[in-house]
Amino acid sequence: MSTTTRTPLEEQTASLKERALAGGRINQLPFTTDTEDCLENHLAITCPLCAHNYVHFEHPTYYNGDDDYKTQSGVRGDLILIPFWGECGHVFNVCVGYHKGNSYIFTQVLSTD
Ligand SMILES: [Zn+2]
Repeated sequence: MSTTTRTPLEEQTASLKERALAGGRINQLPFTTDTEDCLENHLAITCPLCAHNYVHFEHPTYYNGDDDYKTQSGVRGDLILIPFWGECGHVFNVCVGYHKGNSYIFTQVLSTD
């Protein structure tokens, strides 16, 4: 039997993904152009709870929904999950999910502290 050791970041990311797959509050993905250094023709992602624009993403994961809601995110098909943490202290996932011919982008809020 082998054991694997995760770094603290890997532990946090794994925990976020497990919590995301178990649910989480669904919000629209908020954007802003009101930042000091906003790039032309770009929108800055903000925290879905407090609108802080200093947010950082981790490695995304692709989940097979098997066209049977197996991602437990509300969409029937596959899901791309990108874990985010904000300098505000909130954590959330940005998700792209496939549902009956449409692809949706939304957030799953994982902490409200
Ligand atoms: Zn926040």
